[in-house]
Amino acid sequence: MAAGKKKTPTTKAAAETPTSAELARNIESLDALFSKVGLTRHRRGSRKNILAKARKNIYSPEELHRPIAANVHKAKNGAVWLAVPGWTQYHWLWHGFSTRKGGVSTAYAIEGTPGELNLGLTADDSAENVAENRRRIVAAITGSRKTPLRTVKQFHSGLILYGPGCSGANPFRADGLLTDHPGELLGVQVADCIPVLVADKKKKIVAAFHAGWRGTVQRIVERGVGRMRLEFDSNPRDLIAAVGPGVGPCCYAVGQEVRDAFESQFSYAADLFHEVFNSDPVKTRYPMLFLTQRAPGHSDIGPSTHLDLQEANRRQLLAAGLSPKSIHVIGGCTQCDRELFFSHRGAQGRAGRMMGLIGIADK
Ligand SMILES: [Zn+2]
Repeated sequence: MAAGKKKTPTTKAAAETPTSAELARNIESLDALFSKVGLTRHRRGSRKNILAKARKNIYSPEELHRPIAANVHKAKNGAVWLAVPGWTQYHWLWHGFSTRKGGVSTAYAIEGTPGELNLGLTADDSAENVAENRRRIVAAITGSRKTPLRTVKQFHSGLILYGPGCSGANPFRADGLLTDHPGELLGVQVADCIPVLVADKKKKIVAAFHAGWRGTVQRIVERGVGRMRLEFDSNPRDLIAAVGPGVGPCCYAVGQEVRDAFESQFSYAADLFHEVFNSDPVKTRYPMLFLTQRAPGHSDIGPSTHLDLQEANRRQLLAAGLSPKSIHVIGGCTQCDRELFFSHRGAQGRAGRMMGLIGIADK
């Protein structure tokens, strides 16, 4: 078979091979075509050097991808969740980040695959499925399906709820929760946004925050730590924090308005943005064709601006006084790893929800 595929050159094919004079004419006509559309073939310097220069401070998505640095657990009931390395030493502390695996929902699952762990009351899923999934993740983390789960109605704000909440049909509107009350779990819902968990290891206070770009600009995490200091006199040096999985810097392309909002708020904003080459195979193969004279980020076909929301929230924890070694960045990317995570952007807005959960054990 292989031998059959191999063609011997025919006289006709040989006749079609262009002569060097013809080649030169072809290149001239190519140059003419390129200059007509505003591209010039560089005559000096090697192509490699030109590319290296053009690519300075420009990254590929792979270079920015942050792998998961957490322990993956599978509960007896099937729920798959991530635990923060080192936090198991705090026996009084319940915590975890859920994944999409190990539930009863089929609304977002590929046909024929097992049920998924959607924890959000979304339009596509039934309330019964979500209730069962919530009992499973609660049991996975606390050991009891009956542990109450407190949630809020999130709206990308900087508001934090402290005090008796309700998570029935009418939860309060907020994007953060705070408690010193043992025996309950606090949960924030995410599907690309960053869940951030904070605990005061000395005073046994816990908090959960939902940080999308809007909440991050409104400093939800910094405000949250401020609230812990105000209500409980927490010392930031006693706080430990985990920045959970969400859309990574590899995938989170944003517009200029997002960059403007961060630059107006944070002196370190420049560290949070990267110019990233689109991984479009045509653009990757012919990068020179896509280098325009316009500034990066201003071109439809040039590199795109990516925001590192995980790092942005780590910086807020540092700004709030936490020690760098007390902050654990879980990593992972919801948009890259669609098998493990739900991704709102990755699924064009039709996705289940995961949770970042934290609580104080009641025994
Ligand atoms: Zn990614």
